[in-house]
Amino acid sequence: MEDGAVLCHAGKIVSVGKTKEAMRDPWLKKNLKKVREIDCRGLVVLPGFVDSHTHPVFTHPRLVDFEKRIAGANYEEIAEAGGGIRSSIEGVRRASKGALGQKLVSTFREMEAHGTTTVEAKSGYGLDFASEMKSLEAIREAAREWPGTVAATFLGAHTIAPEYRGRSQAYVDLLCNEMIPEVAKRRLAQFVDVFCDRGAFSTEESEQIFVAARMSGLALRAHMGQLSETRLKPFLRFKPASLDHMDYVNDADLPALAASETVATFVPGANYFLGLPRYANARKFIESGVAIALATDYNPGSSPTLSMPMAMSLACTHMKMSPAEAIAGATINGAWALRVADRKGSIEPGKDADLAAFDIADYREIPYWFGMNKCRLTIVSGIATGSLSN
Ligand SMILES: [Zn+2]
Repeated sequence: MEDGAVLCHAGKIVSVGKTKEAMRDPWLKKNLKKVREIDCRGLVVLPGFVDSHTHPVFTHPRLVDFEKRIAGANYEEIAEAGGGIRSSIEGVRRASKGALGQKLVSTFREMEAHGTTTVEAKSGYGLDFASEMKSLEAIREAAREWPGTVAATFLGAHTIAPEYRGRSQAYVDLLCNEMIPEVAKRRLAQFVDVFCDRGAFSTEESEQIFVAARMSGLALRAHMGQLSETRLKPFLRFKPASLDHMDYVNDADLPALAASETVATFVPGANYFLGLPRYANARKFIESGVAIALATDYNPGSSPTLSMPMAMSLACTHMKMSPAEAIAGATINGAWALRVADRKGSIEPGKDADLAAFDIADYREIPYWFGMNKCRLTIVSGIATGSLSN
């Protein structure tokens, strides 16, 4: 919309239209003195981004992995050199809840500076009872401090905990019988996530975890098809909110996925950062009628970016998504993937006043200027943060 205006009140969007029409609003006319006008002329205003897949609870970057991988080292060699997920697990286990929480708040603020107003945040670098609960408590405390919206996800099933190597069933039992019921009892997370793939949890183990999560009343999502193909049918019956990565998928599963309420979430930042030649085949999903979302997968091992515009740029250049499709994936479809589409992801009356303003003349410039942050102002529940001079 050219020359648009958004009228917000008490943290909600009241009306959307042309500026002229907005100025004719009877409530606005009566309350003109009380209204704060933010002049967005020359900017593009979008719904705040919904980053529906992040792993922000970690303590340090994984620079050993980064350098070793560049030099051609494989997973085992990286682990031997002190890198890999184990180094993130050690960091989280040693850190205090307060330190994790403070780091999370600064992460959420940096996301906000890039236009993100709703974030899904996973645990998953603790992998023992105390450290997983500490991670989720840190997310909860940070969510209270940051004005944006946070959806917490329990990802105890990120990988088999180091102590349970070779005894994966014992770890699955710990997840199902102790951790998931505690997470539900203390309302520490809305979702349970499972890394279902080669070298992580098998389809059978993932199903056990889904059953336990459902029994505890928690919603479901999963990492699927990052390294190898997994058939989706056993999972769709659980009605997961989202299945994420999806680089490897069996074409025969796409009609069932399209007919379901489940969103497919792509995280091209991981493919980019790992230097993988293959990306999810977005066009095939779109043509099959699957609802697709885009997320950063922000994490220290495979996707150290919190920039949704960067994820969108990769989706355009490497997955042949149009700029408009990338924006839909980063906003309304991300909101569906978190089951908050009734109040997030689009600029519509009645929804939360979460907006982002970009210093560009055309929305297509967001994925075009890759690696650049054009966000000048973010509005969260009607409150602006950013650097517009007025
Ligand atoms: Zn992930």
